[in-house]
Amino acid sequence: MRFLIVGAGISGCVCAYQLSRSRHEVVLIEKGRGVGGRMATRRMNGARIDHGAQFMTIRSARMKSLLSLWEGESAVIPWYDRIAGHPEIPIGIRYRGTTGMTDPAKYLARFFDKELNFFVERIERVETGWKIWERQGQFRILNADHLILAIPSVQILELLHRSSLYLPDEVMNGLKKIRHTRCIALMGLMENSSQLPKPGTFTHPVEEIDWISDNQVKGISSKPCFTIHASDYYSQQLWDAPDEERVPKLLEVGQDCLGTKITQWVSHRWGFAKPTVTFGSSHWHSAEWALTMVGDGFGGERIENAALSGWDGAESILQTIQNL
Ligand SMILES: Cc1cc2nc3c(=O)[nH]c(=O)nc-3n(C[C@H](O)[C@H](O)[C@H](O)COP(=O)(O)OP(=O)(O)OC[C@H]3O[C@@H](n4cnc5c(N)ncnc54)[C@H](O)[C@@H]3O)c2cc1C
Repeated sequence: MRFLIVGAGISGCVCAYQLSRSRHEVVLIEKGRGVGGRMATRRMNGARIDHGAQFMTIRSARMKSLLSLWEGESAVIPWYDRIAGHPEIPIGIRYRGTTGMTDPAKYLARFFDKELNFFVERIERVETGWKIWERQGQFRILNADHLILAIPSVQILELLHRSSLYLPDEVMNGLKKIRHTRCIALMGLMENSSQLPKPGTFTHPVEEIDWISDNQVKGISSKPCFTIHASDYYSQQLWDAPDEERVPKLLEVGQDCLGTKITQWVSHRWGFAKPTVTFGSSHWHSAEWALTMVGDGFGGERIENAALSGWDGAESILQTIQNL
């Protein structure tokens, strides 16, 4: 069978990986230049910056089996399990990509075909499965026996709308109720190494900020560089404000915590950070529609749950095929 998976975040990559292991034809489609989605690592004047997800937990047996794969190829390593002087932070190993948070997705993506820089504009149900259209550029058109949507729920709804498709009422209602927090991120370069001790993080210094980290202390950058994540509250309040309004507070607190001057920065708006209301099951799958939907809006908060959602989705598909 031929599967098309839209979205190269961790849920799409794990789903594609599991399907490709069963020797099916798998093509992953992604609007961006690379894989990883919200597990994003960015280069800036020679520095490497994780500006989306910062670490992942590995608790379930399935995630542990992925960890063995990743560790076998040195794609993932432990980062920290506690922060000295902060007993309120739960103890437990946080893992990171060895050279950045995109590494685990990049590793999985070796095992299947990809179509990158491909924004899926429209999908159409055809007799043999699905037809998928690219928005612009090469105007690629692809066919599949079964389609997997591994994109955030708002983007699923937009895609369905553009495609004049309506899923059963209970599914549409489930998609409409999914909610994510927002996050304004600030990332950039510092004059010197920061004063943050290992592991190089500072959480919730003020109510406007959830997270500050030093990517050099983290171990992914040879140059001093930082990441700041504003809180959901601050991000919601200043979402549409210009940088001149929303950045000064982040710079001021950031420089204070980092103990050095920020010399260069860019901001980024994450429209879907962490799910606060989910669909109600780890994925949605329909043999009749030849359609499956996965992602953190189904699986729940954290990379681990998004990955498990992708895995569960693949398993439902494979079970359906077996029963044919
Ligand atoms: C700032 C921030 C910090 C976070 N910190 C952590 C953390 O420390 N630990 C943790 O466990 N989790 C964290 N998370 C949450 C975690 O990143 C997500 O839960 C997880 O990565 C979601 O994976 P996903 O596959 O569901 O979606 P995504 O990673 O969003 O993947 C969806 C992909 O679909 C693509 N796409 C969308 N529409 C289309 C289209 N029409 N055509 C083609 N492609 C399309 C997107 O470009 C994207 O690559 C954080 C998230 C953010 C934003």
